[in-house]
Amino acid sequence: LKPIVAIDGPAGSGKSTVARAVARKLGLFYIDTGAMYRALALKARQEAVDPNDAPAVIALARHTRIDLSYDPREGTLRVDLDGRDVSQDIRRPEITEHVSVIAKIKEVREIMVGLQRSLAEGRRAILEGRDIGTVVFPDAYKKFFLDAACEERVRRRYLEMKEKNIPVEQQGVQNDIETRDRIDSTRACAPLRRTPDAVYIDTTRMTIDEVVAAVIAEINR
Ligand code: C5P
Repeated sequence: LKPIVAIDGPAGSGKSTVARAVARKLGLFYIDTGAMYRALALKARQEAVDPNDAPAVIALARHTRIDLSYDPREGTLRVDLDGRDVSQDIRRPEITEHVSVIAKIKEVREIMVGLQRSLAEGRRAILEGRDIGTVVFPDAYKKFFLDAACEERVRRRYLEMKEKNIPVEQQGVQNDIETRDRIDSTRACAPLRRTPDAVYIDTTRMTIDEVVAAVIAEINR
């Protein structure tokens, strides 16, 4: 097996769940790149930095340590912000709300892409995000673009958040997904894009197991 598998797609398309499962089954290192942007968004909030104030966010990013530690035996991912475990905090709705604004900033993306490449260095890894196949690893061994109908992505994200006891309303989740989709796919720097070299999977009517099986079959082809 060649080292890098890239999974891109919009929010709620199943990227994280599928990438985790594939990582476990194939013994790959798992890298959730969205968690890094979320960690920076959390720090901005803690430091009362306006997400729209690009120079301030860039300065903040330069003085921030973000570590991802993946435990392959447990299949769990821990996210540390300046040495403190923020794995739960980064999922809060008020963080999700501002993350896409921060992720638009070119210099922020350069820092994150550098981190992502060095984490993957020398490893067989699966990375998921918005720009993995286009920017982070354009020569990845296999690229996937996961997608699903908007209503289905809203439904999944809503159920997932309820399961984690995060207080949300369905309408709030829908607004969040629509807003992030728009910002992520229209930004100037590394927009979310479906490219012809990525295997496209519409997961709307598929179970997680079916998507995982399809991805693994494609990797082994
Ligand atoms: O995947 P997740 O929903 O956790 O990502 C949060 C946000 O981080 C996305 O909406 C997007 O704005 C940003 N992101 C990105 N590039 C990535 C991963 C995430 O811009 N590779």
